[in-house]
Amino acid sequence: MINHKSIQVGKNFYCYVWMGRGNNCNASFLCHILRGERPHVLVDPGHIKNELRENCFDSLTQAMEKDGFRVEDVGLVICTHSHPDHFEAIEPVVARSGALLALSREEDEFYANTGSRFYNAFGSKAPQVKPFFYLKEGDLSLGAKNKLAIKVLSTAGHTPGSISLYLKEPKILISGDVVFLGSVGRTDFPGGSASLLRKSIDKLSQLDVEYLIPGHSTEAGDIIAGKDKVARNFHLVKMFI
Ligand SMILES: [Zn+2]
Repeated sequence: MINHKSIQVGKNFYCYVWMGRGNNCNASFLCHILRGERPHVLVDPGHIKNELRENCFDSLTQAMEKDGFRVEDVGLVICTHSHPDHFEAIEPVVARSGALLALSREEDEFYANTGSRFYNAFGSKAPQVKPFFYLKEGDLSLGAKNKLAIKVLSTAGHTPGSISLYLKEPKILISGDVVFLGSVGRTDFPGGSASLLRKSIDKLSQLDVEYLIPGHSTEAGDIIAGKDKVARNFHLVKMFI
């Protein structure tokens, strides 16, 4: 059963918005970016199965297939952070594609020391995939002729090593669990910090964003489209933290 809604934003960018009853993240997908046989980039593959035993990973791969993409053709997976609802499915993605993993050094250390224990609490097994490279704040270009220009932003607060991604063209912000439509990421989990989250939200609010892709949908909705709506949302959420 497909529980992801596919939303295409621009030529190479798809968001797979989670529509199931239980918890899972929204995945982002950048197609035909990398050189070679596995040209796609996947951001936050999500859960394999969630707390309601919904088949989140099967749903994602089926939603991708409907758009003509195979998980076997993913060459790189970027994770905003290591929580199970974003990171658990890294193992089946890598098993099927041999994709490389990128996350921040801070998140990798947090995962090794603390974050992997969340998985026991959720009744699942912590993935053992090691990052191929670390993401740090600054510019990252992927693909032939710098096909994809990304700005990586360190946005700690929800976890110590959370990152957000800003795609300069067409001005997309993938915010992970930092900011959502009408709300912000939790900071009451181990490694969370409300003061750092506030700084991170301040940082993201400086960007020129046309589409905000949050890590989760809320009652209010999913993707925020339009510069004015994005600005209004930042203004609103800053009043709550
Ligand atoms: Zn999270």
